[in-house]
Amino acid sequence: MTNITTDRPTFVTHLECSLTGERYEADQLHGLSRAGRPLLVRYDLDAMGASLSRDALAARETDLWRWRELLPVRHTANIVSLGEIETPLIPIPRSGGANVVVKDEGRLPTGSFKARGLVMAVATAKELGVTKIAMPTNGNAGAALAAYATRVGIETIVFCPDDTPEVNVREIAAQGARVWRVNGLIDDCGAIVGKGAAEGRWFDFSTLKEPYRIEGKKTMGLELAAQGGWTLPDAIFYPTGGGTGLIGMWKAFDELERLGWIGSARPRMYAVQASGCAPIVRAFEAGEEHAERWEDASTVAAGIRVPRAVGDFLILRAVRESGGQALAVGDPAILQAVDDCARKDGLLMCPEGGATLAAYKQAVKTGLVDEDERVVLFNCATGLKYPLPPAPWTLDRHAPIDFDAL
Ligand SMILES: *Cc1c(COP(=O)(O)O)cnc(C)c1O
Repeated sequence: MTNITTDRPTFVTHLECSLTGERYEADQLHGLSRAGRPLLVRYDLDAMGASLSRDALAARETDLWRWRELLPVRHTANIVSLGEIETPLIPIPRSGGANVVVKDEGRLPTGSFKARGLVMAVATAKELGVTKIAMPTNGNAGAALAAYATRVGIETIVFCPDDTPEVNVREIAAQGARVWRVNGLIDDCGAIVGKGAAEGRWFDFSTLKEPYRIEGKKTMGLELAAQGGWTLPDAIFYPTGGGTGLIGMWKAFDELERLGWIGSARPRMYAVQASGCAPIVRAFEAGEEHAERWEDASTVAAGIRVPRAVGDFLILRAVRESGGQALAVGDPAILQAVDDCARKDGLLMCPEGGATLAAYKQAVKTGLVDEDERVVLFNCATGLKYPLPPAPWTLDRHAPIDFDAL
């Protein structure tokens, strides 16, 4: 973690409403814009480009904080870290194909890519003097929040749907947050958080309702550029719930181009959802700019069970501008893909990661993507956090053993 030991300048100039472009001051606590939309952090990229070269950056250790100048935290003392590594690109030739790699985010602290967003949001909250945070979660975001907030001494209260995977609820509690199971979905939990925030009880850390999680998630796009030798892949398949990562990567590519570090070529962005909860796919297909709430949302891929996303228009815009699509895959295809990847390539994905593999296979079949194209799939959490298929075989060591049958 040598990247965080020296104080380096940061280049944040202001924040901007993602819908209206209205300007907001940096270094102040913000939630949504006055238009009720996410705020985006803006940087002085000219000054940054003058002070840091691509080669100087490439020479740094490859953790998340190597991107410090492109991130919002002002003072090194406010940086928090549990060891946010650059995640590897793992080829999956047998289950995916010769040109398919998985960016394996399951290796991050707390076992999911929520660590990227929350390390940034918590560090910035600390910098801005926040002492109490509440958040709705499907599991992984709450775990990452709990871990980082505990580390800097911020109090956290987390609300999750009552059918959130048990391991998530327990890891949230184990890492020092107060966690409540709510009889509803994530947006119902979000309503409770919003009510408490309006009463001044805590700061609202819902997806995209504070500006800095996007900045953390943006590092996925920065890493992809660096890992590809400053050339981006042809297509990216991203499991889309709130869409923070997809929006963040799109923003990263734009910033890198304005720095002159990459060209204008962009990957086609495929937003992958489960057919039991596919509001973005429905809006994409209908040509809409916003997505209506998906009723009775249900899927094994809990991380993308998000019936309504406040950044819907940003997801749809990025997908359309990139020439990509929003794609839905069913739970059976998701589970089949997880099984396939584990059995054939030895990589245990989470169901949301499996959804991207299932969507990729479908896209090859329908001709959306060519097998020659360089494709990145996102495995967003370790498969170990999820229920695994049973393995019921036992052996009595006192009885005769039929070695041929083993
Ligand atoms: C949160 C989450 C997602 C969705 O990520 P967004 O950037 O919010 O769309 C996908 N998979 C897993 C495992 C998650 O925890």
